[in-house]
Amino acid sequence: MEVPSVAMNCYLKSLASCVAAVCAAVFAAPAADAAGDFVVAERGAPPRTTIWCSNAESEVERHAAGELRDYVRRITGVELPVSTEGERPSGPVVQLSSGEFADDGFELAVEGDTLRIRGGARAGVLYGVYELLETYGGCGWFASGTEVVPLAVSFSVPGTLRDRQIPDFVQRDTCATDVMYHPEFAARLRYNGNLSCRAATPELGGPSDFRYCAELPNCHTFRILLPPETYFKDHPEYFAEVDGIRREFCARESQPCLSNPEVVRIMTDKVLEIVKRHPECKYFGVSQNDNGNYCRCEKCRAVDEEEGSPSGSIVRFVNHVAAEVAKVRPDAVVETLAYNYSIKPPAKTKLLPNVMPCICVPGTDIYRPILESRNEERRRFAEYLRGWGKVTSNLYVWNYVINFRHYTHPFPNTLALGPDLRFFKANGVAHVYEQHSGNNAAHSDFAELKAYLMAKFLWKADQPLEPLLDRFFAAYYGAGASYARAWFDEIHALGAKRDGVKDPPWIFERICDPVVPDEVYDHGAELWRMACEATKDSPIHHDAARWGLFGLEVTRVTRGFRGPRCADYICTLHPERVDAARREELREIARSFIVPMLDEGDPPVSLAELPALNRHTKKEMRDIAMGGGPSVVSNVIVMEHGRIIPTAYPVDSRRMEDPQAVHGRAVEYPYRGWNFTPLDSVGLDLDGKYRVRAHVRIERVPEADDDEREAFRLMITRDHCKEPVVSHSVKLGEAGESYAWYDFGGDFTPHAGDDFDIRPGELPDRIHPTCRVFVDRVEMAAVE
Ligand SMILES: [Zn+2]
Repeated sequence: MEVPSVAMNCYLKSLASCVAAVCAAVFAAPAADAAGDFVVAERGAPPRTTIWCSNAESEVERHAAGELRDYVRRITGVELPVSTEGERPSGPVVQLSSGEFADDGFELAVEGDTLRIRGGARAGVLYGVYELLETYGGCGWFASGTEVVPLAVSFSVPGTLRDRQIPDFVQRDTCATDVMYHPEFAARLRYNGNLSCRAATPELGGPSDFRYCAELPNCHTFRILLPPETYFKDHPEYFAEVDGIRREFCARESQPCLSNPEVVRIMTDKVLEIVKRHPECKYFGVSQNDNGNYCRCEKCRAVDEEEGSPSGSIVRFVNHVAAEVAKVRPDAVVETLAYNYSIKPPAKTKLLPNVMPCICVPGTDIYRPILESRNEERRRFAEYLRGWGKVTSNLYVWNYVINFRHYTHPFPNTLALGPDLRFFKANGVAHVYEQHSGNNAAHSDFAELKAYLMAKFLWKADQPLEPLLDRFFAAYYGAGASYARAWFDEIHALGAKRDGVKDPPWIFERICDPVVPDEVYDHGAELWRMACEATKDSPIHHDAARWGLFGLEVTRVTRGFRGPRCADYICTLHPERVDAARREELREIARSFIVPMLDEGDPPVSLAELPALNRHTKKEMRDIAMGGGPSVVSNVIVMEHGRIIPTAYPVDSRRMEDPQAVHGRAVEYPYRGWNFTPLDSVGLDLDGKYRVRAHVRIERVPEADDDEREAFRLMITRDHCKEPVVSHSVKLGEAGESYAWYDFGGDFTPHAGDDFDIRPGELPDRIHPTCRVFVDRVEMAAVE
């Protein structure tokens, strides 16, 4: 990939200092070093060295040679010859040799007239070439489309060079969008993980070594190994005893009784069968289902008490499986979860070397490094992580580094990235997955910077942040760097201001955090506008600044359409309370993001800046731009279809065509999971009183023959798990197949963070619902 000349111009400053440094090295070689510098290439002179692939059959090595040749040519103007012959070419050579170490590090060393780049497993030799180009050639890779390649009079390395590097983490993974979709860039940042390298070609080392067998993926596989639908009827004793009974749960909600020898045999046999069927895979997930229904039977409890944690039963079982797997596939790894009820490590049992426990970092108080957290859950996590580090040398950490609710919203967690990785490293963590924006949003808040920093710290956790920041801002924003940096510093200084707030910032942070006033974001947009202006002659940097501005504008627009108490203007009874001029200004900005486009079934618009937003944000921006949303009828707020979709998990609620519904669309409420719809997107007066009703119809299942059974329950809930504020249970005999209104069971005064919830009733088996529940409208009427 060529660097456009505009980008080159912006690097003239760093080029000047680089040239100066190179000259000093060439003409003032240290006297003590009789050998002098090893000169790779000299501008204007014939090629001084030959690049020699000593394992020419290695595709990675040949690619590394090509990269070295191309970048040296761009730095010095000299094209070095590449030899793939078995014999060493005569004269000075840069020798590449791959597969020299078990790790994926490398060694750079000058020995006489040879500069040796020895690489370890997979892509080590390629990383060695990039290290050479970065450290001695001044090159840098900051995003898939932004690289720095300085011009120089010569490219040389010290004659005393000997640099062996072993990465701090065995697996270095992220799903940052730019990395995930540009495998050649992922290689330059030395990512090697399951997601970051899923698209890597053989010349880049091929797909990641850490990919999982599709039949036993990386989480919640007990349900695959012991499905209740196969075994429960004849053997309830195979399944967890909870509250004194072996209750029949659906597969997702089940857990096995791990002290039952038959269960251990069945599950182990199944794992072995899958392992044998997949010789091409190395990683197999054997892990608890996603619920808290672990077995409390006498035997399981005894094990867990002895180990001081329900992880006891799991690690003993997984060790047994792993020992059997090792007999048939000594190289295979069994991955399990240390999560939810099993996050506390076992007190006694150590894990076998072929077991990899995956521990998930709590996603709260994320602006602060784990070790400095004032949040109890995060502090406890630190303690557990240390404990796991003592029972395994194969520890895998799953970390969250993005705001899943608003990908583009400023999320000042950058300063925690390095310290957290140093903490992981100090406690024996070998594998790290930094979960970022994935498919949801390219260019989310400082996404490219974070991907760059994570890569640097994953390779070498103990290095100062400031030089990395300086380098990145100068390269990525060019003449806009000072403005981008000013915004970065401002928003990160705000992290500290969250100290006194009751709820620490978390990975589902709401966009209308009242602690950060509008003026902060207005100023941020101002800074980005100045960055855009300063970079207008450099398209690459201008683009980077424009994306910075875009994120801030999305934040300002969406915040502006919510009132001071997180109330969404579109759903409020009091639009007059919103500043009309500001509203129109923000609506204009929202309109500038959209272009007319035909879209099946939906209003005919779509966002121009598609890759930068997730679906939810796009819809919100579109609603604002179009001025759509529910109608306001006297003192009643009406929500319909799109606006009443519950945050259902794990089964998605369905938005569907329904000829019987108002406007022909309805939402089906799922039977299992959390069906709550947050009310903080509705402009309710917090001191007002409301009556809520829903327009509902049902379709009974054939087994539901008892009219007295519950059809569904309507609820307003506060803090999810607690008793509902108001609730109303509707019986099958009272509900029908045509839409009718049902009250939620009384007046309520809203609090920030309230939800409403509509839950289908259960058949006596407690596995199936009594009916399907469809909702097309919810109304909230102010009560005098
Ligand atoms: Zn049990």
